[in-house]
Amino acid sequence: MNNWIRSEIQQLSAYHVPESSNAIKLDAMENPYHWNIAQIEVWLDVLRNAALNRYPDPSGNEVKQQLRSVMQIPDNMDIILGNGSDELIQLLALALNDDGRVILAPEPSFVMYRMIAHFVGMQYVGVPLQVGDFELDMFAMLEEIEIHQPALIFLAYPNNPTGNAFSIDDIEAILETSSGLVVIDEAYAPFAEHTFMPYLNKYPNLLVMRTLSKLGLAGLRLGFLVGSPEWLGQIEKLRLPYNINILTQLSTVFALQNYVLLKQQTEQIKLDREYLSEHLEAIDGINIWPSEANFILFQTANAQKVFERLKARNVLIKCLHGGHPTLENCLRVTVGTPEENKIFLQVLEQVIEN
Ligand SMILES: *Cc1c(COP(=O)(O)O)cnc(C)c1O
Repeated sequence: MNNWIRSEIQQLSAYHVPESSNAIKLDAMENPYHWNIAQIEVWLDVLRNAALNRYPDPSGNEVKQQLRSVMQIPDNMDIILGNGSDELIQLLALALNDDGRVILAPEPSFVMYRMIAHFVGMQYVGVPLQVGDFELDMFAMLEEIEIHQPALIFLAYPNNPTGNAFSIDDIEAILETSSGLVVIDEAYAPFAEHTFMPYLNKYPNLLVMRTLSKLGLAGLRLGFLVGSPEWLGQIEKLRLPYNINILTQLSTVFALQNYVLLKQQTEQIKLDREYLSEHLEAIDGINIWPSEANFILFQTANAQKVFERLKARNVLIKCLHGGHPTLENCLRVTVGTPEENKIFLQVLEQVIEN
């Protein structure tokens, strides 16, 4: 086996998902709300008609139409659907991979950019964000872009795990400087104040990527990429046929027909994010960063120990300590229901004191 599995792959460790049964789960940026019983009944009626014996619509046309009706997608732009946006990151890497080519992203950011670069055998360049405010370090970014001429740049807007939305002027400067493709990953668009969708007509090297995961449909695995027919026509060739199964297609159309409801949930989450921020900040020994996403990054002494103690009391968040030098003693908590947020705050106060 050692002779055949590529050495980069042997050196990787598999993406780890912690066990979470019975825990208050505030580690994965999920929307904490499910639908009510009446809605579930209507949804089940939709699924009853699913022709499981047939292949699904290969292009997912109904899903795309529904997406267009709720997601500010410019009419002249195309859409590619992915089995989660992770799959789209992989498609992009496959399409742009060639000898010595580079994927560049600021760090810390979404770990799949680096992992997928390694999966496909591309070089990866991580450019540290500014210490303190996690803004793009434009001097370093422009310099590294100049040196490496990256084929692909990923910018998460807002950024995970820091929660901030980078300066729009900085992002435009990157779009103007780079000759390669720039993908703005708007996974947290439901919680952010700004979108780059309208910029698609201004920058021919821009694609916007979104997912329904953080909106409230993480179980469905549906991501999408928006951009010019020229770019997407090429990338589409690499998409495996039928990558979006029929249950996901039907459920997505149903869910987006009920978009008002998802919108209400995300608006509630935004309000609760402010509640959680204020109360976190009020705890002695905790520093928080502002967030335009559905999670909050904070810092405390002995973060690893605080994480373990929360976990021992059934509250699961994410420990980022050790992941990147700028994340020393940092933890990330997803905004839950008001009840979950209260329990988290109570338990946190107990474990910090003791
Ligand atoms: C969660 C997340 C994704 C992954 O989305 P899926 O559609 O669930 O694969 C992509 N980008 C960022 C920045 C994320 O935080």
